[in-house]
Amino acid sequence: MKVLSVASEIYPLIKTGGLADVAGALPLALAAHGVETRSLIPGYPSVMAALDEMSIVASFEDLLGVRGDILAAKVAGLDLLILDAPALFDRPGGPYVDQQGKDHPDNWRRFAALSLAGAEIAGGRISGWQPDLVHVHDWQTGLVPAYMRFGEKPALPSVMTIHNIAFQGNFSAGIFPYLGLPDHAFGIDGVEYYGQVGYLKAGIQTAWAVSTVSPSYAEEILTPDFGMGLEGLLNRRASELHGIVNGIDIDVWNPETDASIARPYGAGDMKARLENKRAVEAHFGLIEDDGPLFCVISRLTWQKGMDLVAEAVDEIVSLGGKLAVLGSGDAALVGALQAAAARHPGRVAITVGYNEPLSHLMQAGSDAILIPSRFEPCGLTQLYGLRYGCVPVVSRTGGLNDTVIDANPAALAAKVATGVSFGPITLDSLKRAIRRTVRLYGDTKTWAQIQKQGMKSDVSWDKSAALYQKLYSSLLPKGSH
Ligand code: ADP
Repeated sequence: MKVLSVASEIYPLIKTGGLADVAGALPLALAAHGVETRSLIPGYPSVMAALDEMSIVASFEDLLGVRGDILAAKVAGLDLLILDAPALFDRPGGPYVDQQGKDHPDNWRRFAALSLAGAEIAGGRISGWQPDLVHVHDWQTGLVPAYMRFGEKPALPSVMTIHNIAFQGNFSAGIFPYLGLPDHAFGIDGVEYYGQVGYLKAGIQTAWAVSTVSPSYAEEILTPDFGMGLEGLLNRRASELHGIVNGIDIDVWNPETDASIARPYGAGDMKARLENKRAVEAHFGLIEDDGPLFCVISRLTWQKGMDLVAEAVDEIVSLGGKLAVLGSGDAALVGALQAAAARHPGRVAITVGYNEPLSHLMQAGSDAILIPSRFEPCGLTQLYGLRYGCVPVVSRTGGLNDTVIDANPAALAAKVATGVSFGPITLDSLKRAIRRTVRLYGDTKTWAQIQKQGMKSDVSWDKSAALYQKLYSSLLPKGSH
C-alpha cells in the first residue's frame, strides 16, 4: 500500500510540537505493516539544509502564483517529498511565525500551495509513483482533500488527522478567489466556515475519514466544550471519526541508549537515574537533595495549564519538592514562572526556550513530570515519562486519560498504576495530586513499582500503526490491499 502523508512539520527536520513527532515516527512504524509512506513537507531552511542527495521529481510553474519544485530525498529513514518554493518557505522565523513571533501574513497561501501540491501528487504528478491514499495532518493540510474533492480527477481515499482542534486555520473569505477552487467549493459542503475559509473545517468536511490522536479526545471533540465550533460537523461525521492514540519512537526515546542523558539506565538499574537527577539539578542551579524533583517540558500556554503550575509552585516547595521548567510561550506565563523561580532560588528554576537534548535529560533525571492540561488531544511528554521512569502527574483529559493509570488503591493493589491523574482541572485538585505524588514518592517501594510499571507500558507505535493500517485498508477498494 502506498500512502502520501502531508504535514507541515516532521521530526527530526522541523518541529514545534507533537505533530512533528507523529509525522516523523508513523511512516517508520507503518513500514512494518506493509505501508510505504512518502511524506510531503515544505522546504523550510532547516529542511533544505539537511538534504545532501536529492532529485527534482515534479515542477510547478504557477502554484497559486509562485514557482515550486518537488524534490525527492531520503533523510533519517524517511522518504521525503519537499515542496521547494523559496517565495513561500525560504525565510527566517518558525514554520508559522516570523522572528517576532507574528504569524506570516501569507500563511493562507503557503499552506494552500502545500495542499495543492499534495493533491497534484495524489493525482499522479510524480511519474512512476502513484499513491493509493492520502493522509493529511492538521489545518495546514486541510485543503488537500478539498482540492481532490473539487478537482477534475477522481479523488483518492483520504484520512484527515486532527492533532489539535484549537488550531483551525480560518482566513477571511477574501482569499477564496486565489485558492484556485471552483466557486461552488465556497459552501457549507466545502471550505466555507461561518463566512470565512476554514482549512481544518475543509479537511474534516471533505476527507473520507477523520481521525484524532486518542479515543478520549475523539469523544470530547463531539461536545461544545472541546469541539471549538466544529462539534456540529464532527457529529455529522461521527461514524467516520476514529481515535487512535499516538505512540513514540522508542529508539529515539530509549533510556538505555540515549546519548543526551548523563547516564543511561534500564528498568533493572534505576539507581543510575540519580546521576541524571544531579545533572538536571546542576543545569537548573537547583540544590542537590533527595526530595522529589518535578519537571515541566511544555509550551507555556493556558491549554497546558501552566497558570496552574505557576500557582502550585509554593505547594511543591512547602512539601520539600523542587521544580524544573523547560518551555516557551505566553509572555505572562513565562513571567509568572520566572517570578516563582525568583521566590524560591535553588528550588524552582526555568529555562526558557526549546531544547531537545535537555528535554531528554529532564525525563531521565526528574522524578515526576507535571502535565495539568485543560485539554490534551494525546500528549507525548507523559509517554516519554512512562518510558523513562519519570512518573506522569496528569489531568484526566484526552490522551492523558487514555495513557496513564492512576495510582489509586485498587490500581496499586493490582500493580497496574503508572502515574497520578486528577480532575477536575483546578488549582485545588492539582495541589491535591501533588500532595499525593509526594506521599507516594516517600514510599520507596510503591514508587519503584509505579516507575517500573510505567516503563513496562507499551508506548511504541506498534499497536497504533496497525490501527492506521486497518483504517487505510477500510477505505481502499475491497481486495486491493
Ligand atoms: P503539543 O504538541 O500540544 O505541544 P505534545 O505533548 O503532543 O504537545 O508534544 C510536545 C512535544 O514537544 C514533545 O515532544 C515535547 O517533548 C516537546 N517539547 C515541548 N516543549 C519543549 C521545549 N521547550 N524543549 C524541548 N522539547 C519540547
